[in-house]
Amino acid sequence: MQAVVYRGKGEICMEDRPLPQLEKDTDAIVRVTLTAICTSDLHIKNGSVPRAVPGTILGHEFVGVVEETGRKVKSVHAGQRVAVNVETFCGECFFCKRGFVNNCQDENGGWALGCRIDGGQTEYVRVPFADQALTPIPDQVTDEQALFTGDLLSTGYWAAKIGEIRQGDTVLVLGAGPAGLCAMMCAALYRPARIVAADIDRSRLEFARKQGLADEFVDPSEVSLTEALREWTQGRGADVVIEAAGGKDSFRLAWQAARPNAVVVIAAMYEEEQILPLPEMYGKNLIFKTGGVDACNCREILELTARGKLKGECLITHRAPLADAMEIYRLFENKEEGIIKAALTP
Ligand SMILES: [Zn+2]
Ligand SMILES: [Zn+2]
Repeated sequence: MQAVVYRGKGEICMEDRPLPQLEKDTDAIVRVTLTAICTSDLHIKNGSVPRAVPGTILGHEFVGVVEETGRKVKSVHAGQRVAVNVETFCGECFFCKRGFVNNCQDENGGWALGCRIDGGQTEYVRVPFADQALTPIPDQVTDEQALFTGDLLSTGYWAAKIGEIRQGDTVLVLGAGPAGLCAMMCAALYRPARIVAADIDRSRLEFARKQGLADEFVDPSEVSLTEALREWTQGRGADVVIEAAGGKDSFRLAWQAARPNAVVVIAAMYEEEQILPLPEMYGKNLIFKTGGVDACNCREILELTARGKLKGECLITHRAPLADAMEIYRLFENKEEGIIKAALTP
């Protein structure tokens, strides 16, 4: 089968690989029907994910059909359409029991697929802990609608949830890339007064506007974000900030635009160290929540999708066969042709 493989820092390529086999009773084999490229794949390619193992098939955002299951798998069966979770987790350890599945203590726990073990930019995948990692897709939800369930929408859903958004709040989302757009989509579930989208890429702001994902749009390279937020909130600042940009300046913008006692969610993945200037922010009493998504709400996300409350498919700007993956990687990395997300068919 054809597969996109991480070869080591700076190098990915298409390779011919053998079909995967079940290894444990809790595994399933999934035939991939639609797969995506994520910004994290670029982070791996650039060598900024130290735990990524060279020789691994990339891809942690895909949907498919269950081909075969191990003896102990109970929640899915062969022939079922499923969304695959970016995180595989045991469901039993200290962290899993508390819903902190990103830190599952099993060696295959957390983000393993397409990073430490073979992932989904290929035709067939062995998925560990299938009971937790696979969620059946409701009949009325298409593959395209379900494609981002396990990663991007999970990230947006998690960020909005831990942001503790209340009805009537002003929510600032930094970054109108795929993760930021999903965060806006999920923030809307809490009925805030307004969602403010900020990005220095005008075309991305325009995309968010066209899709109706935010109410206000700010380019912080042209307008003071802090001032703009104050204007909309009687001088207070944003009630909740979700930082999904990961840019040079975006961490600073995030806490500066927040009102005192706000929750600032850092969902971005930085390639450089960030400064936390505590003297400067003293007295603002901010609450920072950081890290990688705890992706254990796929069922809720698919239900919301079935009810038309989430529309992840609106992010798909490009469709191509998996065979064209290298060209799509190039477009994605250089942000050409207005690409937000590509859906690849094996
Ligand atoms: Zn991802
Ligand atoms: Zn666990």
